Amino acid sequence: MTIRVYVGLGSNLEDPVAQVLEAVEELEMIPDSILVSRSSLYRGKPMGPADQPDYVNAVVAMDTLLSAEAFLQELQRIEDLQGRVRDGEQWGPRIIDLDLLLYGKQKINKPDLTVPHSGMHERDFVIIPLSELAGDVNIPGQGRLTALINKCENHSLRKLVTA
Ligand code: ADP
Ligand code: MG
Repeated sequence: MTIRVYVGLGSNLEDPVAQVLEAVEELEMIPDSILVSRSSLYRGKPMGPADQPDYVNAVVAMDTLLSAEAFLQELQRIEDLQGRVRDGEQWGPRIIDLDLLLYGKQKINKPDLTVPHSGMHERDFVIIPLSELAGDVNIPGQGRLTALINKCENHSLRKLVTA
């Protein structure tokens, strides 16, 4: 049985559009998994420190046979492959960020894995692209996407025409 997962992608360094598209190609090669669909790309203002470039964000839907932990490892392998440096600054600039947003309908609370991804329900750059792919999906513990979108913070999100 495959599990439907959603992955959030973000970049604000070294040609963010190209970084996001490269990551999508890598996601397509994750073993025992298929990429189902990709949202438009969006550009928006950073969360946290404001003295950094704008972000490009997108979401993809995938079906996987992997466990959530194994899937997260694959995401981290791709982040490393694209040269992400982990300097510990929270919400600091990054070449690529790959977050496991949803893993089926599961809630997971482990030291290194929280699903749904923490904070996703209040981030327009996650839930607006997600809504392109998942409609009014229920976010475990948070409620339905449409209601979450209606009350979420605005990061001046703009859809990119390249998508
Ligand atoms: P953020 O994406 O919140 O800006 P980072 O990408 O720097 O933060 O955080 C990476 C850490 O977050 C990893 O060490 C990973 O174990 C942890 N983590 C917990 N839950 C998730 C998740 N659902 N998706 C991705 N990383 C997660
Ligand atoms: Mg992350």
